[in-house]
Amino acid sequence: MQEVLLCKLGEIVLKGLNRKAFEDRLAGNLRRRVRRVADCPVSLRQSVIFVEIPDGVDADAVVEEVRRVFGIASICRAAVCEKTLEGILAAAEGYLAEQIAAARSFKVETKRADKKFPLTSIGVSQQIGGELAGRHRNMKPDMHHPELTVHVEIREQYAFVHAGPEPGAGGMPIGANGRAALLLSGGIDSPVAGYMMSKRGLELVGVHFFSYPYTSERAKEKVLELGEILTRYVGRMPVLVVPFTRIQEAIRDNCREELFTVIMRRFMMRLAERLAAEYECGGLITGESLGQVASQTMPAMAVTGAVCDLPVFRPLIGMDKEEIVRIARKIGTFETSILPYEDCCTVFTPKHPNIRPKLPRVLEAEEHLDVDALVEDALAGVERVVLG
Ligand code: ATP
Ligand code: MG
Repeated sequence: MQEVLLCKLGEIVLKGLNRKAFEDRLAGNLRRRVRRVADCPVSLRQSVIFVEIPDGVDADAVVEEVRRVFGIASICRAAVCEKTLEGILAAAEGYLAEQIAAARSFKVETKRADKKFPLTSIGVSQQIGGELAGRHRNMKPDMHHPELTVHVEIREQYAFVHAGPEPGAGGMPIGANGRAALLLSGGIDSPVAGYMMSKRGLELVGVHFFSYPYTSERAKEKVLELGEILTRYVGRMPVLVVPFTRIQEAIRDNCREELFTVIMRRFMMRLAERLAAEYECGGLITGESLGQVASQTMPAMAVTGAVCDLPVFRPLIGMDKEEIVRIARKIGTFETSILPYEDCCTVFTPKHPNIRPKLPRVLEAEEHLDVDALVEDALAGVERVVLG
């Protein structure tokens, strides 16, 4: 029996005139994602994306990929059949045989996208329901709380039978809202932040600051591993590895210890903004959460944010660590994030960081540094790795 996935679109349905562009983008994203596991025809009709499962293809593997595509609200795994009552009945009994054998109650729910079909939706449900009830005495019709709902969808060319939708990844198609630079550390938070913004339709470019030899080659590999896991959701992602050692040493040698972290973070933002311009990114993304560490107090974030013009997205700002960890586990980054390799943020950490830094004091401290030269020097050493 020919199997197909009916992917129903999410929020993009609200987008009026842009709808066509959104739908095409989503179909393109989906096609690229499915290609990672199998060669399945993907087509878009009446705001539903059809993924055909050819014989011999592992449908579970395809569903697994489709579940991670942002912009899809729900996925129905269905059998394709002729648009006749006999065809629909045969498909239901064949495709849903196991569910039918196990259910004690059921109903049939029909949707008719083809309004020319001779029977109404209710008519189809009654006919198919009557036949099924007669032949499968284990299930009683129950319109309110059935164990099994047999869904029938009558569309342009074919009818489809399935046991109901499962939720898709939600969100918006990647790229629909542009591109942003994700400041990606080896921690728990930043991969989650990237996942969340990608879900809102942003394509990502990763930026990682690397302080060799204070942080090891293995620490960099860990970040790239995290990036690779993330690509299962966010698709292809370049990661720019920025040498950060000289900047950190210059700060250590020339600035007051209590301001180390905030000055370092301002360098991160400057560099990320420059790379963002190069890669046509309209914003920056960080994994900051209010009050989590000294550099994430409101005054510290004000001083850090003041150095760049692009919007800074901090999707975790109002979340507890526990909530962040839950998402990290769900997307599969947690186990890698907790591997014990140092991050550049833990190099030269002040014992008593200033949690209420004032911008004029910070600007004064930065006068002891050749900021422009340090920035240019770091940019000259950027290494680019493409993941996914
Ligand atoms: P995470 O779990 O993401 O490492 P954290 O709680 O350790 O977060 P910080 O180390 O203060 O927090 O970093 C805050 C944010 O700054 C990170 O979420 C990330 O976006 C960015 N960041 C920190 N270190 C780096 C780095 N080495 N390279 C790129 N971005 C970084
Ligand atoms: Mg960190």
